[in-house]
Amino acid sequence: MLIVMHKDANDEMVARVREEVAKLGLETHPLTGTTRVVIGVTGNRDRIDADRLKTLKGVRDVVHITEPFKLASREAKPESTVVEVGEVAFGGGSAVLMAGPCSVESRDQCFAIAETLAKAGVKVFRGGAYKPRTSPYSFQGLGEEGLEILSQVREEFGLKIVTEAVDVETLDLVASHTDIVQLGSRNMQNFSLLKKAGSCSKPVLLKRGMAATIEEFLMAAEYVLMSGNPNVILCERGIRAPGGQGRGLMDLAAIPVIQRMSHLPIVADPSHGTGNKANVPALARAALAAGADGLLIEVHDHPERALSDGYQSLAPADFEVLAEELRMIAPVVNRKLI
Ligand code: PEP
Ligand code: MN
Repeated sequence: MLIVMHKDANDEMVARVREEVAKLGLETHPLTGTTRVVIGVTGNRDRIDADRLKTLKGVRDVVHITEPFKLASREAKPESTVVEVGEVAFGGGSAVLMAGPCSVESRDQCFAIAETLAKAGVKVFRGGAYKPRTSPYSFQGLGEEGLEILSQVREEFGLKIVTEAVDVETLDLVASHTDIVQLGSRNMQNFSLLKKAGSCSKPVLLKRGMAATIEEFLMAAEYVLMSGNPNVILCERGIRAPGGQGRGLMDLAAIPVIQRMSHLPIVADPSHGTGNKANVPALARAALAAGADGLLIEVHDHPERALSDGYQSLAPADFEVLAEELRMIAPVVNRKLI
């Protein structure tokens, strides 16, 4: 249920409404828009008596939400959410280019890649310190040492950092070193991790589970939102389906579909989406043209030597060409590439 406040309702009125709802044993989630506050209410099994709430000062309307994802839905918040990470904004007309190696392997490797990226105008560096690998015998990431290297990248190149948290135990440590916490495909329905990410102060980049429907994806985002973190960036990274060339089938249609269903920004990851560097540029261009709010692209200074995902990582020269192409496409679809 949503309580829509009047445009001129003040903080006191909002607080009073939240108190009244709390007395009913329910939770409130204020969603602050540019013109008014709406208060999401969750926790009710039965229909709440809306008429009583409508009599409270400052309340304009009480609306029952039909979607199962209450806080993530456009019904709850018609205007798009803009997730701000310093001067980088996800949603609201920009498209954010994020790139970097699948795994942080060494300081030299990250610095070499960061230099290429910074020169190409990239503002956000993505690299994994903790890696969720299919095989327990594969490289698992440098862990804390990797986080330290990422902090050095931020310091040296002024880049924002995205890195993955793979479990509840290390999420706080990861969050303290990064600007955006990535939650991976394999963890999309790790509900304790989603709730923990909801109590963290950093924005969350939530990747779609590889067999998840769009509704399940938005329900996963709902866990983060209802746990108190409004800054969720969704990421389409390909799903398992017949017809996939390589590791997955990049679901480009998910971009406009999700933008209609939800106010959250959605970015695309054509590297995991195609699993093959030969297909990455085409799908990156297509995702931008389809309206993605950003792109996540794996780049390695020596893809043939990469400890993970080298096959789908672009070499620096190929990334530079792609970045140029993306800069040309962005204005055609009313986006500002940052
Ligand atoms: C990654 O981003 O390197 C990764 C492991 O992605 P996903 O969770 O989408 O497989
Ligand atoms: Mn990877």
